[in-house]
Amino acid sequence: MSGVTFLGTAGGRMVVTSQLRKSGGFWLSLAGKNILVDPGPGSLMRSVELGLKPANLDCIVLSHKHIDHSNDVNIMIEAMSGGSFRPRGILLAPSDALEGDDPVVLRYVRTYIRNNIKVLEPGFKYSLDGVGIEVAVRMMHANVESYGLKFTFDGKTLGYITDTKYFNGLPEAFKGCDYLIVNMVRMTHDARFEHLLPEDVIRILKVAKPRQVILNHFGMQVVKARPDAVARRIEKESRVRTIAGADGMQFSFDTGKAVTEPTISSFG
Ligand SMILES: [Zn+2]
Repeated sequence: MSGVTFLGTAGGRMVVTSQLRKSGGFWLSLAGKNILVDPGPGSLMRSVELGLKPANLDCIVLSHKHIDHSNDVNIMIEAMSGGSFRPRGILLAPSDALEGDDPVVLRYVRTYIRNNIKVLEPGFKYSLDGVGIEVAVRMMHANVESYGLKFTFDGKTLGYITDTKYFNGLPEAFKGCDYLIVNMVRMTHDARFEHLLPEDVIRILKVAKPRQVILNHFGMQVVKARPDAVARRIEKESRVRTIAGADGMQFSFDTGKAVTEPTISSFG
């Protein structure tokens, strides 16, 4: 069984710090591998709450170092390695999350996974026992390194458009995806924040043409506009099936549908 569990769908500082929506990233279960993407604040608590076992993780991925994507990375590495007693798993992260003036991954925690860390960069490709993880394109997002990703499993491809502003070449980088998770933080343009708006998502979908899109990482403007309503508008204009992620939502990549009445996660 392959699917995703959204630990939280909060994006942007106000929604995360108020916990108007929960945060913590999303947990992929792909062909038997457990991959945690962007473990923001609450990732450990939300995983356990939803019945997911961090000690079963095989891989943690940071698309970029911003705190709403990385806050729980250290504790999740500790949990993945059984409190350091059972070293296992791998971390994939951009170089500025690991080195430089302001790394977010603690050095002593890195030893818990025997420094099994790979640096994301353009052209990056990795096989996690047959589950492919690759960089689709470098994003344009504030002053940090941010990477859009593609995961391949069971003959399918899942794309992840993390935080970025719109740029030429972005839609093309995600052609050929069956599923696409898109972080859409804002409704209106503001040059101070490099994020996608509904209009940007529609432009991307018209070119990338995935089978199904799940919107994620909602800032205050999107929460106020109601993510479900925004998803319906995007679907109508792009003609691509679109749903809004929700806290605790599980979506099956086998059936292409959300799992109904989710409580404890079926994945992982
Ligand atoms: Zn960010």
